[in-house]
Amino acid sequence: MEHAGKHALVTGGGSGIGAGIARALADAGAQVTITGRRADKLTEVAGTHPNLHALVMDVNNEASVRDGIKTVSGVRGPIQICVANAGIAEGGPFATTTLADWRRTMTTNLDGVFLTFQSAMATLPADMPARMIVISSIAGVRGLKNAVPYTVTKHGVIGLIRGLSEEYMRAPITFNAVCPGYVDTDIVRNQIPGLMRRFDTDEAGAVAIIAKGNRHRRLLEVDETTSAIMWLCSDGARSIDGQTIQISGGQI
Ligand code: NDP
Repeated sequence: MEHAGKHALVTGGGSGIGAGIARALADAGAQVTITGRRADKLTEVAGTHPNLHALVMDVNNEASVRDGIKTVSGVRGPIQICVANAGIAEGGPFATTTLADWRRTMTTNLDGVFLTFQSAMATLPADMPARMIVISSIAGVRGLKNAVPYTVTKHGVIGLIRGLSEEYMRAPITFNAVCPGYVDTDIVRNQIPGLMRRFDTDEAGAVAIIAKGNRHRRLLEVDETTSAIMWLCSDGARSIDGQTIQISGGQI
């Protein structure tokens, strides 16, 4: 129960990678606030563990993030573990990407992390150890075609943790990014119908096309990202700061 008594926040905790890390933190004793826009998904996940608590919070909305985090920290305490996981992955050729498409991805994947981190950090007394973790992507360390806005945001959050790591070097708080390859979640599964049509293949064929993006050519399971994040949250990782951890079945 390494995290007993701590309050953790996991944005996008109602599904996929976020739900996995939220459950693992709850199992380790933390009180975990999970956030997202869909109340039904949050309630479903929160119902699986007494330490999970749902909060509807839209990372595109400043007041929603600032007020939401202030309220839950008033109830469960300062946010000692913050996992900024909420994100969208929309694809398409650069030439036809509209400014609205571009801004939607920037607002969710970049502004959302800025607001989440800043609001969570505002709950912390100066001497309290804390972990700030963002879910970037392999798109944070290399370019992905047909996903330029996504690539920009996932590179951007790595700049965020590097800058914060320098700014808070002497404080007991660390900033790190996890960069998964293709993980078997809704974000990936939602691409399958389009790939089946485009390549005239079945579901297994579409999965294989996506899995080719991982060096070991299989989709990652959620628990493979969870364990890296749990390690970053551990006391033993207190000097791991400003780092990007690739989880992609091989070197990117
Ligand atoms: P999911 O689609 O399952 O998770 C995305 C989560 O983000 C959802 O719970 C969603 O909740 C939340 N979210 C999206 N927009 C908002 C918003 N405006 N406000 C609040 N919450 C929001 O996919 P994953 O679990 O795979 O994705 C989690 C993170 O991992 C993302 O940042 C993604 O880019 C990253 N990632 C995923 C990879 C993969 O292959 N799956 C690979 C690399 C990185 P709701 O819709 O209820 O708001």
